[in-house]
Formats: sequence, structure tokens, C-alpha cells
Amino acid sequence: MRILLVEDDPALSLGVARGLEREGWQVDVLSDGEQAMSEGLVGQYDLCILDLGLPRRDGMEVLRHWRARGARMPVLLLTARDELADRVQGLDAGADDYLVKPFDLPELLARIRALKRRAEGRLDETLQLGELKLDIAHRELTHQGQRIALSPRELALTELLMQKAGRVVPKESIVARMSSWEADFSENSVEVYVHRLRKRFAELGVVIRTVRGFGYLMEVAGTGE
Ligand code: CA
Repeated sequence: MRILLVEDDPALSLGVARGLEREGWQVDVLSDGEQAMSEGLVGQYDLCILDLGLPRRDGMEVLRHWRARGARMPVLLLTARDELADRVQGLDAGADDYLVKPFDLPELLARIRALKRRAEGRLDETLQLGELKLDIAHRELTHQGQRIALSPRELALTELLMQKAGRVVPKESIVARMSSWEADFSENSVEVYVHRLRKRFAELGVVIRTVRGFGYLMEVAGTGE
């Protein structure tokens, strides 16, 4: 997947670009609204991440320009907390999703995967394990129809384990998926998150097993004993 990232904060843009590349995606970075206007039309991008506050032309102008000229790629807006009105306008102007700063990398990656699925027409994809269901596009976990509230990171870990249900997920791939730009997610933090999820899932008929020295495996309770 080829992604255009338009963001004028150099630290943020570097962190996001690294995170996207770690997922195996190709990223082009721009920091200027005017450049983005033309590049978004000629660059054959599968997806754009577009900051609202940009030098020369703001993100809203850029988005309107793209949509008016028939560019259909999914666009995810990055907005500051005080730009609520802009956010609504942005969705009206043809944005597909938005994320409020500061956000965490796993959350951004999950949104991008959801947009990609939507663009590919795989809108209602769900993962199921026992009575647990994860609606990937809408980021919602339910047990027998009841919503289980998890943090974005807990949800990202649950998604990873459910995708590979019944198989071992190596600790390193969990670390890679959960790392943010502020601090690398350590193997110890993986243990903390697994411990938390185990508690949440204790009554829900699924277990997360530790495969010592290797990783974790999620399955329906009682299967692997
Ligand atoms: Ca900005």
C-alpha cells in the first residue's frame, strides 16, 4: 500500500512515517499544503493522512481540491483538539475518518487498516473466538452482543491474538505492532497488557496462554489443556 502523509510537525511526521514503514507500507511525506494539492492528484496513493493545520494551504482546502478533481483515495484527517468544527466540515468535505492529536500509533494503524478494508469492500469483517466477536472496521469487541470496553492498545493486542487464534504469536511481533513513537513498547509492557486482558477475559470463555520463551496464544477456554 502506498500512503501520502501530509504533516508539518517534523517529529510527528517522522514517527508516523516510521510506524507505517514498519507495517510494510510505502510512505511519501510532505509538510506543505500547496505541494500536497498537486501531489495527491498525480501520486497514485492508496490512502492519505492529512493534517488540517498546514502552511500555505490548510488541510481542508487540500481535501476539497482533491475531491473536486475526482481523487477518491481514503483520507484520514489529523486534527488538534480545538478544531472540532473543522473536523465536521472535513467529513462533509469528503474525509473518511479523523484522529485527534495527540494519538497513539497503534490507534492510527488500526484506523488505516480499517479504511483499507473499507476501500476493498471488506466492510463487515469480524473475528470470532468462542462467544467473543471483534468488528474490525468499527473497533468494537462484544461478548454475546454486550460491548467490552477496551483501550485502543488493548484492542490492538486482542485483534492480533484473535487473528492468530489457536496459534502462538511471538512476543517480538506483539512488541512491533504495539510500539509507539514516544517509547518502544517493551516485552515487559506486553506482559502487563496480557495480564490485563486475561483479567478482562476471565469470565468470557477465552484464555491467553503463555508459551514460555516464545509468545502467547489465545483460544477458547478448555481447548488446550
Ligand atoms: Ca499542523
